[in-house]
Amino acid sequence: MLLIGKVAIVTGGGSKRGLGQATARLFAEQGAAVAILDRDGEAAEAQAKALGDGHLGITCDVTDKQSCMAAVAAVEQRLGPITTLVNNAGITQPLKVMEVSGDHYDQVLDVNLRGTLYMSQAVIPLFTQRRSGAIINISSVSAQRGGGIFGGPHYSAAKAGILGLTKAMARELAPAGIRVNAVCPGFIDTDITGGKLTPEMLEQIVAGIPMGRTGRAEDVAGCCLFLASDLSAYCTGSEVDVNGGSHI
Ligand code: NAD
Repeated sequence: MLLIGKVAIVTGGGSKRGLGQATARLFAEQGAAVAILDRDGEAAEAQAKALGDGHLGITCDVTDKQSCMAAVAAVEQRLGPITTLVNNAGITQPLKVMEVSGDHYDQVLDVNLRGTLYMSQAVIPLFTQRRSGAIINISSVSAQRGGGIFGGPHYSAAKAGILGLTKAMARELAPAGIRVNAVCPGFIDTDITGGKLTPEMLEQIVAGIPMGRTGRAEDVAGCCLFLASDLSAYCTGSEVDVNGGSHI
């Protein structure tokens, strides 16, 4: 058990077969008390309940600073001192560059990038006081190589922004004992990607993956577990690929 005594927040964990849910489940199995935050509060509660006793589901819109602050205060009060934050909430829009309006840009940047900043700002004072804490930001292979049929160029930009934010926070916060790392998943079969693919599209995607298969939510959860645990005590500012070799 790698996370005994840890209290972890996973944002965007309400999606039944998403990366956040798989991460929350693995963290709970490894001994952490887990708070699932999602803008869909009912889904967050249902997923937290599925983890068993001692976990929490809370409504939180990561684009709203007050909502982030209130959720973090509620987790501290009900589960105890937070040790770990996984910034996983995200949205995509399958658009080409000339189709991206100002509203599209705001929506995608707000959830992915602003949300990561606001949630981090909500926990950093607590982590700083305790001189300990781990932040894990979910970026994407779309940040590294662009493209991808689901994301859109503004999604790639937001996810690349997350990599910059991760490195800047890692550098600034290392002296305070806080580690900040990013995970870059490749194509993972979840609600964001699932159900929208023809067999030809899937064949084309798999052809670009050296390991010859799409990823599973559990593949990403395993990486988050490493970065949340003391096994990664000397890792900060890193960008870990979980993509079957699609960006080598
Ligand atoms: P998903 O759609 O299954 O889950 C995303 C969750 O985020 C949903 O539960 C949704 O309600 C929540 N959410 C959206 N806006 C929110 C907001 N404003 N506040 C709080 N919660 C909000 O998606 P997923 O595939 O599990 O993706 C999880 C993360 O992984 C995202 O950041 C995504 O960009 C990233 N990612 C996914 C893939 C993939 O192939 N699935 C690849 C690379 C990166």
